[in-house]
Amino acid sequence: MRRRNIVLIGFMGSGKTEVGRKLAQMLGMEFVDTDALIEQQTQMSISDIFRKHGESYFRKLEMNIVAEVAKEEGLVISTGGGVPTFEENLKALRSNGLLFYLRTSPIAVWKRIKDATDRPLLDVSDRFTRIVELLESREPFYRRADIIVHTDKMTPDEVASQIAAWASAIPQGACAVPVCLNERTYHIVIGNELYDSIPKLLTAAGLKEPFVLLTDEIVFPLHAQSYARAFEAHDKSLHIITVPPGEMTKSLDYALRLYDKLVEFDVPRDGTLIALGGGVVTDLGGFVAATYMRGIALVNAPTTLLGQIDAAIGGKVGVDHPRAKNLIGCFYQPRLVIADISTLKTLPERAYREGFAEAIKYGVIADEGLFDFLERNSDALLSRDQGALMHIIRRCCEIKARIVELDEEERSDKRALLNYGHTFGHAIEVVTGYRQVLHGEAVAIGMVAGAHLSCMLGICSSETVERQTEVLRRYGLPTSLTEVGVTGISAWQVYNAMALDKKRRGKTLRFILPKRIGEAFVTDKPIDEQLLIEVINAVL
Ligand code: NAD
Repeated sequence: MRRRNIVLIGFMGSGKTEVGRKLAQMLGMEFVDTDALIEQQTQMSISDIFRKHGESYFRKLEMNIVAEVAKEEGLVISTGGGVPTFEENLKALRSNGLLFYLRTSPIAVWKRIKDATDRPLLDVSDRFTRIVELLESREPFYRRADIIVHTDKMTPDEVASQIAAWASAIPQGACAVPVCLNERTYHIVIGNELYDSIPKLLTAAGLKEPFVLLTDEIVFPLHAQSYARAFEAHDKSLHIITVPPGEMTKSLDYALRLYDKLVEFDVPRDGTLIALGGGVVTDLGGFVAATYMRGIALVNAPTTLLGQIDAAIGGKVGVDHPRAKNLIGCFYQPRLVIADISTLKTLPERAYREGFAEAIKYGVIADEGLFDFLERNSDALLSRDQGALMHIIRRCCEIKARIVELDEEERSDKRALLNYGHTFGHAIEVVTGYRQVLHGEAVAIGMVAGAHLSCMLGICSSETVERQTEVLRRYGLPTSLTEVGVTGISAWQVYNAMALDKKRRGKTLRFILPKRIGEAFVTDKPIDEQLLIEVINAVL
């Protein structure tokens, strides 16, 4: 197997060259700097290339150099600040490399390079404003890295050590998606059979003993033993708590039992709770971690597809109240998420397929490319092909991460976009008593209703509705209640459940409507009752 490269990306002045050199020395790897290679090859300085030939000429040279170094192995590669703004460069570097973004604030960059004479892109009178603008425009590209290291308060040696810890913890073939929330930034590590790497991943994320693993009685015999073995091999102790599977466990009653256990294990404020399981375990575990001693570190290790692409990311934690689902809770971000694809092998077929509703949702609201991929690769994905799963889990996590970063606590419309299909879907779950229809199935039916509504309002085309319906069917997801064997429910029952939900929130009914595949928007505009009844009738 080729030894993976370590690639440093980030803005000029973020310390890539200095950190890269230290890192290479630390790990016994060779160091290369793409800007230095270009200067060597052309026998010209970067400033002279810009001045004589212009930026696009430089970018072509840079792309060629990037393609060459990306083919090598075992290198620490420091890249020019504009490298990640080209998809070709990112693709080449990722093919055999782990990408680290050295994130630096504009003020720190300015302090470091305010007097530099070799920065052609900063040849303006107001350097600080230029740095702010350029950094802002490049930030979305930099966030495509696997790992973000916030460098402002760290020395180059500390940055290099942190990168070395992540690089040795993330096994070859695995990748990571950052959720960038400043001091609460965390990473979703995605890979296959990650058990043995978990103790190292916890260390890289700065997490401390004692470690307590929370799981349910179904997941325990399937996956918890591998955790126990890995911890033992690393000489780390692990307390294990199991709870019964199912939504009934997501209650204050079980939260209380968990607090008792944490007290019994004498877990201090800097201890760590690892929630291993589906959305029930990560929601409950997250709530307990958020509230025990006013918050201990939380690691989510989702074992359902729905958990890996949705429930375990974004910080919504909570328990149900006997009268309503998810009524008690808060926002509390995990410190690390470990999405191990191998755990999905043991998921029952229906629970596995359910997860695709959320994946298709991401395609409809945000990414036609993902939707295309789901259309074209249904056979591979339904047979749980590792490569195809890695691709969609990573993409879904990226989409959710970017939305959470913009609107962490759902205070604007941005995060509400993730609720596509959920207004109808929640009502369907309520009227069917949360038992007959799985959450993902209700979302699938809700998405069909949402697309119909959008089409009836003249917003999306009937082709969009059909394309979505077709892909849902391909994943064995229901597009009506009858398909899951539920009959005898009237459109008014569903409508009233939606209206009740509206009352509870004290807002108007909110719908997420697709414009086309890959783009949707949120609306609070009142919608004619009869039209809604017609839409609901179409999915009964
Ligand atoms: P779940 O946690 O109930 O898991 C479904 C079933 O699969 C359970 O019986 C579980 O024991 C079993 N299971 C889990 N992993 C397994 C594996 N690898 N192999 C075999 N069996 C396995 O359900 P879920 O669909 O993962 O999550 C649903 C919950 O998630 C709901 O409570 C919902 O409210 C919540 N949720 C939360 C968010 C959020 O942002 N916090 C988002 C979506 C859903």
